Amino acid sequence: MTDTLVAGGTVVTVDDENAIHEDGAVLVADDEIQDVGPTSDLESRYDADETIDASGKVVIPGLINLHVHSGFIRGLAEDLPVWEWLAEHVDPTHRALRRADARAAYELCYAEMAKAGITCALDMYRYMDEAAEVVDEYGLRAVLSPYVADREGYEFFPSVEDNVELLERYHDTADGRVKVWFGLEHIEYCTEEAYRRVADLAAEYDVGIHTHGEESAKKAQELTDRYGMRPIEVFDEWGILGPKTVVAHCVWLTNREVEVLSETGTSVAHCPTSNEKLASGVAPVPKLLNHAVSVGLGTDGIKENNRLDVIQEMKNAALLQKVHRLDARAIPGEQALRMATMGGAEALGLADEVGSIEVGKQADLVVLNFQQPHLRPNFGAENVVPNLVHAAMPSDVETVLVAGDRVVDDGEFLPRDQDAIIENYEETARALVERRDNEEWA
Ligand SMILES: [Zn+2]
Repeated sequence: MTDTLVAGGTVVTVDDENAIHEDGAVLVADDEIQDVGPTSDLESRYDADETIDASGKVVIPGLINLHVHSGFIRGLAEDLPVWEWLAEHVDPTHRALRRADARAAYELCYAEMAKAGITCALDMYRYMDEAAEVVDEYGLRAVLSPYVADREGYEFFPSVEDNVELLERYHDTADGRVKVWFGLEHIEYCTEEAYRRVADLAAEYDVGIHTHGEESAKKAQELTDRYGMRPIEVFDEWGILGPKTVVAHCVWLTNREVEVLSETGTSVAHCPTSNEKLASGVAPVPKLLNHAVSVGLGTDGIKENNRLDVIQEMKNAALLQKVHRLDARAIPGEQALRMATMGGAEALGLADEVGSIEVGKQADLVVLNFQQPHLRPNFGAENVVPNLVHAAMPSDVETVLVAGDRVVDDGEFLPRDQDAIIENYEETARALVERRDNEEWA
């Protein structure tokens, strides 16, 4: 058994009391957190094989990205509302996408996330067996939920059968770091039959379901007119809501829809930056939290954000509610940090394993270097959380451990040569966009 002592930092635990240990330490034994407390205490009690010096630094639980699409067209599909943007850019790029392209996207996007302190992601994309391999190789954690679609015109997306195959092969692999759920793109892409089949299959396999709720007010109204009830009520009717279901966005919700989410135990992936950029609106996050709905934070994809950075989502989640409600007390720093960690863990059914720095949990830890002008003054417990949420950046991430193993060290991505990942991705992206523009479908 290898012991590592992360010592001398400000340890922000995100436990039930939001405990913060100044000059604190975390003892990691193999893949688990074995102890947390004052450095002097832990140093006197344990003779660790290895020490990570965190003095002047801040230690937080690994961040959880509760909604992401690995992908390509960062900066190439701008300034359009969501349904125009889907038709003009996103769907054609999907039509041209091949397996090797998806692999290159996973290799880049998971490196980007790891370097930003994201240790676990709920990813919805295609050819997700490639994602399972990349996540395993990189040593990260992910829940994979493919872009299943079955309506006419979307034959290039995976089927429910493909999802079952992925699940049977990869669920609970990589020492439990890779999970497979059912994914459903959106009502406009999937039939009622697909939703009902997935509801049955998810119960049979005892796994979760991830799908898109509404971003656009116009689409929410269109669907309400079409089905004679609100979109969340449609999901309820079709049987997909429950404690193992995560619905992304949920920007436009009636009071009844909030109640349905709460009563069924369904979780929400809030994506503030994506909702801002696509001019979708402001999700009723305080109302969801008041109804005990688990809310985590998602970046959404690189095409709608354009950065896979949950630190930014914490800041935007807070600012968006403050300005929208003209209430500076809306979403304090502690609440933003909790959504980015425990909120995501609860939504994924992983609250006993990750999301906070507590004894017995998996050692998914992020050390941020606070020896930076933009993170001063550092008054320890008094201002560490506001500085994390409102001032920190991915470039402050120095060390990332997942299940006790180092994935990022001294800011460097360890599993692979970063330049090689970027070079391959760049070539792949250019070839993909060229094929798309020439309508050479995969
Ligand atoms: Zn999405």
